[in-house]
Amino acid sequence: MALTGNMIIGRDAVRGTEGVQRAYDPTRDQHLDTEFGLGGKAEVERAAALAQAAFDPYRALSPTRRAEFLDAIAQSILDLGDELIERAHAESALPVARLTGERGRTVGQLRLFAQVLRDGHYLHATIDQAQPQRQPLPRSDLRLARIPVGPVAVFGASNFPLAFSVAGGDTASALAAGCPVIVKAHSAHLGTSELVGQAIQKAAIATDMPEGVFSLLFGAGRSVGEALVAHPVIQAVGFTGSRQGGLALVNIANNRPQPIPVYAEMSSINPVFLLPAALQSRADAIGRGFADSLTMGAGQFCTNPGLVIAEAGAGLDRFLASATEALAAKPATTMLTDGIHRAYDQGVSSVSSQANVTCAVQGQQAQGPNAARAALFVTDAESFLGNEALQAEMFGPASVVVRVRDAAEMRRVAEHLEGQLTATIQLDDADIDAARALLPVLERKAGRILANGFPTGVEVSHAMVHGGPFPSTSSALHTSVGASAIDRFVRPVCYQDLPDALRPDALKDANPLDVWRLVDGQPVAPKA
Ligand code: NAP
Repeated sequence: MALTGNMIIGRDAVRGTEGVQRAYDPTRDQHLDTEFGLGGKAEVERAAALAQAAFDPYRALSPTRRAEFLDAIAQSILDLGDELIERAHAESALPVARLTGERGRTVGQLRLFAQVLRDGHYLHATIDQAQPQRQPLPRSDLRLARIPVGPVAVFGASNFPLAFSVAGGDTASALAAGCPVIVKAHSAHLGTSELVGQAIQKAAIATDMPEGVFSLLFGAGRSVGEALVAHPVIQAVGFTGSRQGGLALVNIANNRPQPIPVYAEMSSINPVFLLPAALQSRADAIGRGFADSLTMGAGQFCTNPGLVIAEAGAGLDRFLASATEALAAKPATTMLTDGIHRAYDQGVSSVSSQANVTCAVQGQQAQGPNAARAALFVTDAESFLGNEALQAEMFGPASVVVRVRDAAEMRRVAEHLEGQLTATIQLDDADIDAARALLPVLERKAGRILANGFPTGVEVSHAMVHGGPFPSTSSALHTSVGASAIDRFVRPVCYQDLPDALRPDALKDANPLDVWRLVDGQPVAPKA
């Protein structure tokens, strides 16, 4: 498909008239050809009106029909072929192999949500049958199912131009729930956004979805993004990006006459705890594995291991020697944007200038523009606990190692941490008691707890949790990756004594959707 620089509003291609923007190639430090016309309040208004009109007809479609739409989007993205990967590579500097894998994840995610729709668990269909003879009062017939919340605004992430952008996890889960989606394209990958937007539009037309089920807007976060979140039609927001940007949107949403939820995934340093027996038996291997995890994708993962905590001693020294050797050999890697590269350099220079911090190693010097050099810093627990600058996210391949005196000090550091997406424990059998003592703290702090792995690499599956207490996200109750991500965009409705003809299909006596249901507290399997 040809790039036009036009927004997609319902079935139309719309040229923005609020200025133009060209995508940036961070490897060459130059702008790419196509000019994208930027939208403003008028386009937000038009997309919102269409989304509102689409909401009832879209949610009235059977789950199977919505699943067909998601499957068609997946195929339509694959049909874009190499053009999509080449454009994403030019705009993000992410390697072709990584982007090809990310496309697979994107398509797999859409198909997972199609499956979620077909099996119907997400509806939580629950029936408490009437008890007309109950004394002293009869009980009504009560039936619960979950319905979509309404049109959703999605802000694509810079670091996942496919899997967490226009057709990424937020869009897939919202469309699955029955919510029309309006995406504010990330300015770091405008061409990739348009191509994927065209693929969704094509799938919507091919599967005869109501117009307005999907729109894609270009424009500055401050004008288009803010207007979108403030618009009364929008009922929920999905966002991945900076703490500052996420909080700005949360504030707008909270200050609306009708406040709405913003599911913002923001900032996490993903602590890794190295326990003594594990260090004694395999410090070298842990050091090498850590260096690989830290530098993967130029460290531009929300799950990057930005903090390591371990007891001082020979084991930690061997870990540091091994990680240092591995990191010294790592080439500097081009980052997503010049802004992200600048922020990374500032973060590294801020940490290196703090008291009682030593730089254990830096990776190889940058050869081209916007390339991030890996860095590993070491400090002690007192200095870490007393200095917020050491606790902030450095978005890139840099991490801080905190030497602690003993298990009690390790626990103090853990207790001090803000909310995290992940917490990792490296442990051997002899560490089980120490890990058991740490676990309650980590459960309070993080959405995912790993043993003997590294936090980068987030599986898209039914049991995944990619979320956690603030500031890792703005809502610790939910995940933005995995099948449960749909829970953000549905709400429960109880139907009391409604005639069968008026009940949602999931709650009708004959169970026409053939879904699992909880009847009088007992799970009842579908017929098929
Ligand atoms: P960002 O600046 O937060 O931008 C994300 C999206 O939100 C963009 O579409 C942006 O619009 C929009 N936006 C930002 N501030 C806004 C505001 N005040 N009102 C309305 N919309 C707003 O994130 P980024 O550009 O991707 O990266 C910047 C920094 O975020 C990184 O250096 C890193 O620290 C952090 N980051 C974290 C994660 C994570 O997963 N935790 C992921 C990526 C980035 P524009 O496109 O117009 O700018």
